[in-house]
Amino acid sequence: MDRVYNFAAGPAVLPLEVLNRVREDLPVCGSAGMSVMEMSHRSKEFGEILGEAEGLFRELLGVPDGYRVLFVQGGATLQFSMVPLNLMRRFKKADYVLSGLFAKNAAREAEKFGSVAIAASSEHRNFARVPDLSAASFSPDADYVHITANNTVYGTRFASFPETAAPLAADMSSNILSEAVDVSRFGLIYAGAQKNIGPSGLCLVVVRKDLVGFASARTPAMLDYRTYADNASLYNTPPTFSIYVAKLVFEWLKDKGGVAAMEKVNREKAAILYGLLDESSLFKSVADREFRSFMNVTFTLPNEELTAAFLSEAFAAGLVNLEGHRAVGGVRASIYNAMPVEGVAALADFMKRFETAHKNR
Ligand SMILES: *Cc1c(COP(=O)(O)O)cnc(C)c1O
Repeated sequence: MDRVYNFAAGPAVLPLEVLNRVREDLPVCGSAGMSVMEMSHRSKEFGEILGEAEGLFRELLGVPDGYRVLFVQGGATLQFSMVPLNLMRRFKKADYVLSGLFAKNAAREAEKFGSVAIAASSEHRNFARVPDLSAASFSPDADYVHITANNTVYGTRFASFPETAAPLAADMSSNILSEAVDVSRFGLIYAGAQKNIGPSGLCLVVVRKDLVGFASARTPAMLDYRTYADNASLYNTPPTFSIYVAKLVFEWLKDKGGVAAMEKVNREKAAILYGLLDESSLFKSVADREFRSFMNVTFTLPNEELTAAFLSEAFAAGLVNLEGHRAVGGVRASIYNAMPVEGVAALADFMKRFETAHKNR
């Protein structure tokens, strides 16, 4: 079978170059004479892989010196617990911005560890936009403010980030390395790997050094950022294969010109689909224009029958995993870094043909 265009929200498409490289390196990786999966995590060879992965990630994202980069397991969801466990250090209080499903899950988890205030929510708008934060009432004694930079389910993004007195913590799982960000604006950034970085399960955490070391004494070692910071993410056996694939993805991204070059392509890819949605009388964008995500393009069709026909005909054409999240329905095309322009063009052509066919009926 040929490779399809995979528009899944996550786990998601990986660059073919990276997959081919994984295959080549699988039995014998570098000078180790063995697969990366068989290597000691304390070997010189794996130490180099981990060091290169961190170095490339820091370079690509532009992580300043005052920040630690941690390789953690448990996906982005474990960070819903680790962020409050580590960052609720003084007042045991945090502000959460509700911009979608993952934001709500993060807030609900944080409530177990302290007091959570909802600074702003766009739930009343069915999350078709991110909340207006100019009027947001951030708590004066919040230990941090949590936002979800890109809302994977609804297809919205923060076009600008709020100014907050408390450290800003951001879930960037679905937009990390897809567009330039000023890391110095944040106290903490985390991203599950399976959208723009590599295999699921791995999560990258970027945390300002002065925020590490405040978890209570009862915090399990594996949930304390200090454990990772003090042991270079090698306190226990890390997900070595996932870190190796992430390193290859970072090399690929650097080769493509880095985040700035990727952002340009991502904007072009998104513009192809949004341009089509704006002209269509059949497809309707879920997200409000100003808040549209470059990574997850969400839209609906007039009824369930047409949606089902669209999805099954798309599947037959090699355009797969376009089902919208069950909370939204309709269609979601996730077009992460590794989705080539050709894939987006193929989807756009299919959409045009589908619309023409259903106009003439
Ligand atoms: C996918 C996703 C998550 C959940 O990630 P897991 O690795 O499954 O825990 C959390 N937040 C956002 C924004 C996501 O896109």
